[in-house]
Amino acid sequence: MSAATRARRLDESARITVLEAGGFVSFANCGLPYHIAGRIKDESALLVTTPKRIADRFNIDVRTQTRAVRIDRSTRTVHAVHAGEEQVFAYDVAVIATGAAAIVPAIAGATAPNVLTLRSMEDTRRMQELLGRGGVRRVVVVGGGFIGLEMAEALTDRKLDVTLIEKNGQVLPPLDAEMAALVELELRAHGVNVVTGTGLGRLVGGAEGVTGVETEDGRLFPADLVLLSIGVRPNVELARGAGLMIGATGGIAVDGWQRTSDPAILAVGDATEVVNGVTRGFARVPLGGPANRQGRVAGTVAGGGAVPGDSQPVAGTVMGTAIVQVFSLSAGLTGLTEKAAVAAGIAHETAVITASHHASYYPGAHPLRVKLVYEPGSGKLLGAQVAGRDGVDKRLDVLATVLHFGGTVEDLARLDLAYAPQFGSAKDPLHMAAFVAENQLAGVVKTVRVIPPEALPLDVRSAAEFAGGSLPGAINIPLEELRRRASELPRDRAVVTFCQIGQRGYVAYRILHQLGFTRLANLEGGYVVAASVPLGAGAH
Ligand SMILES: Cc1cc2nc3c(=O)[nH]c(=O)nc-3n(C[C@H](O)[C@H](O)[C@H](O)COP(=O)(O)OP(=O)(O)OC[C@H]3O[C@@H](n4cnc5c(N)ncnc54)[C@H](O)[C@@H]3O)c2cc1C
Repeated sequence: MSAATRARRLDESARITVLEAGGFVSFANCGLPYHIAGRIKDESALLVTTPKRIADRFNIDVRTQTRAVRIDRSTRTVHAVHAGEEQVFAYDVAVIATGAAAIVPAIAGATAPNVLTLRSMEDTRRMQELLGRGGVRRVVVVGGGFIGLEMAEALTDRKLDVTLIEKNGQVLPPLDAEMAALVELELRAHGVNVVTGTGLGRLVGGAEGVTGVETEDGRLFPADLVLLSIGVRPNVELARGAGLMIGATGGIAVDGWQRTSDPAILAVGDATEVVNGVTRGFARVPLGGPANRQGRVAGTVAGGGAVPGDSQPVAGTVMGTAIVQVFSLSAGLTGLTEKAAVAAGIAHETAVITASHHASYYPGAHPLRVKLVYEPGSGKLLGAQVAGRDGVDKRLDVLATVLHFGGTVEDLARLDLAYAPQFGSAKDPLHMAAFVAENQLAGVVKTVRVIPPEALPLDVRSAAEFAGGSLPGAINIPLEELRRRASELPRDRAVVTFCQIGQRGYVAYRILHQLGFTRLANLEGGYVVAASVPLGAGAH
């Protein structure tokens, strides 16, 4: 619909037809979990527009329940099926926006009536109907990605017993482990039974209804309802059938103007592959933001509002910026995570901080964890992740903007951000993260992510904090006593300073460094990261 309406705004004379296999156009996929949770009460609120309104306002002919089955490039026609009848539509420009489909494994029970996926309004109605009938008490959500997490929350909101099974060793696999750990803690705190490190083995029961899920490691989780949210695959059959180029990622290959290998056919959204804005490699990023922007570009081309080749491609690069809320915690990413950098063989450094989302003295301050991934030497930002209760979205968007413009951690440190106590801090968490990175780059501090076995862990928190739990083998010298007691430390052994979140550890590092200690490092992120304790557990 983005492509169709944009084309109309540019060309009043075009004949524009939209073919939709389902019964709805422009419905809010992203709102579906919140309708199931009961927060969006009225289903009609999810229907952003209707075929009638589109016809009235845009003079676009929307054909629902009409599936495009073939594109004949030689005659420039799209062949579709409506109510069993073939229909043929001639085109000068065709736009393929077939999206993606939820992956359903080919295993027994996967088509049972109480095994569902969530992609469409029809899926949502099926789930609402099943839940409304009563008798559903235990739900197993298979897959701990964005939709799985949103649905684990939604179903918990509906007072159901929820088990979330994630094959990876952590929930929210796109994020690094220490960021995703916060999400897992939040899920557990709200009663979700989180099972990681093992996938769906088999569905127990028959085609008439499953009664449970057995994991690959043989554990059985009873279920009255199973939601499969194990990812999506791009709907490329139409494009493949037309002989269009499919990229190595499995998405339809397009250029920066969304043109496929046939310039008369454009493709957008989840069905396509994109250029990763950081690695410049091809990727699939099935998200609403890129899909909508690509739709606008395709509409511009289709509406004759741009001449491809005249200027730079506009739609191709995607940073994969994404955010999810799970109960009171939000978490998200933009650009490369540390593990993505490792997987791509890209040299990188990281900086992890915890800081209040606004001035800590102003009521309602909550901690944020920020992780930067940047290029050694140049300090160019490669990616970032943020997690916390409030203010996550704004930080991610600032970071995505810095990434978009190819900025460095120095740029981030110098950003002139809006500040009043209820909104941020004079040194925003993003500044603090950038300062850490700047210090690392300048050699002002050396940080480690893991304490090497031969090193002495030096806990510089208060004696009371130390008594509440510390890292294995750690000794305690509170920061305030360090100058006086530094002689207690060995000079022939590496010392790793740490505190709750890394800040006092850094000060301790600087004290010891200036006292002549040479084998020193500060533990990045501090105790809260190393011990994986909830954000805000005494973080200061
Ligand atoms: C539950 C859920 C929550 C989400 N939340 C977020 C979020 O918070 N943020 C975010 O960025 N993204 C989110 N997404 C992803 C986002 O919805 C998609 O990235 C976006 O909808 C992709 O747009 P699209 O037009 O490519 O595909 P779709 O929106 O899937 O549209 C494709 C349409 O094509 C139709 N179709 C397919 N084949 C044919 C055919 N042969 N003929 C005719 N019609 C056909 C389908 O019926 C479908 O209506 C969410 C998705 C889901 C399912």
